[in-house]
Amino acid sequence: MTDQRDVIVHLDKITKRFGSTVAVDKLDMEIMAGEFVTFLGPSGCGKSTTLRMLGGFETPNEGRITLGGADVTRLPPNRRDVNMVFQDYALFPHMTVGKNVAFGLELKGKTRSEIDRRTEELLEFLQLGGFRDRTPDQLSGGQRQRVALARALAPDPKLLLLDEPLGALDAKLRAQVQVELKDIQKRTGKTFFFVTHDQDEALTMSDRIVVMNAGRVEQDGTPEELYFRPQSRFVAEFIGETNLLEGTVRGSDGDAIVIDWNGIEVRGSAHGAKPATGDAVMAALRLENVNCYSTRPQAGNAIEGRIVNKLFKGSRTALDIRVGERDDAVIKAYLDAREADSLPPEQLWIDWDADRLSVLRD
Ligand code: ATP
Repeated sequence: MTDQRDVIVHLDKITKRFGSTVAVDKLDMEIMAGEFVTFLGPSGCGKSTTLRMLGGFETPNEGRITLGGADVTRLPPNRRDVNMVFQDYALFPHMTVGKNVAFGLELKGKTRSEIDRRTEELLEFLQLGGFRDRTPDQLSGGQRQRVALARALAPDPKLLLLDEPLGALDAKLRAQVQVELKDIQKRTGKTFFFVTHDQDEALTMSDRIVVMNAGRVEQDGTPEELYFRPQSRFVAEFIGETNLLEGTVRGSDGDAIVIDWNGIEVRGSAHGAKPATGDAVMAALRLENVNCYSTRPQAGNAIEGRIVNKLFKGSRTALDIRVGERDDAVIKAYLDAREADSLPPEQLWIDWDADRLSVLRD
């Protein structure tokens, strides 16, 4: 059971419409204190609208938002204990780093000594100590990002909203800042609500990912759950690369579900669900979960195949392996380049752990 003391935010069936567009549709979820929660989904799925409702920049048409137990649904941004980091950082260009960080504290009417102490503490914490008197144009992208974060953290909000805050950084810096940001979140113990359409970013940083599709939650879980146990085709295809196998349930074998896929018997897992014999199902298998052998393994249910396409991708090699008689009965696999080169292309065997072939709910 959920420990109610730990729930910091409750979105209680919130709906937001813009004219005839339903941007967010009866969204019901809780965020726990200290969690790094990411809203992930394609453009237009309702991520930013949800974040804006949490921040008080939009009001839901229906439903209720509570923060720390208090109803904040209709409170303006400045009256809720929430702060936001924007994609473009929205730093004041004419103010120094120190003044930017102190700004929110001044608004709150803190004393000069409190403001100085807290500003100093945050600048040190975010390794910006030497930059206090610079203006934003004298900083790198990563440093500006940290200043924006320091400014948002300064008033010690209950919840920090981050709307694609790494979008302006180049790929290398972005990867570095992802690690830093996660580290800062852990060290502060703050609750972060992060919005992105970048699945790698979501997998790297989050304690929990909420995948959104057309205003609704498609799946909500840890990065590992979403990656290895997608429940829908949408999630399987949106996160990572996957083989999709369409077949018919033949029965079960212990915990595994036995599926007829193009006349080939394969084993998968419905992760608790029980599809009936004869049901048409779709199942997802990550490319790196396919094992390949150059000789037929003694045990198990390995399938014979041959390589019809091989692509070197640097850190790994992608193989298309045709199995059975049909041209479209192809399994894609990712292997280490050396392992891929050692396989006999005309005859090899593949298998996978049954719990890695996820039978999808829809
Ligand atoms: P992106 O990644 O592109 O920012 P998003 O997932 O954040 O997308 P939202 O910005 O929340 O999506 O938009 C959800 C839906 O609501 C979209 O169809 C969008 O066009 C619509 N929408 C959002 N804001 C408004 C508005 N102010 N007026 C009218 N429609 C809006």
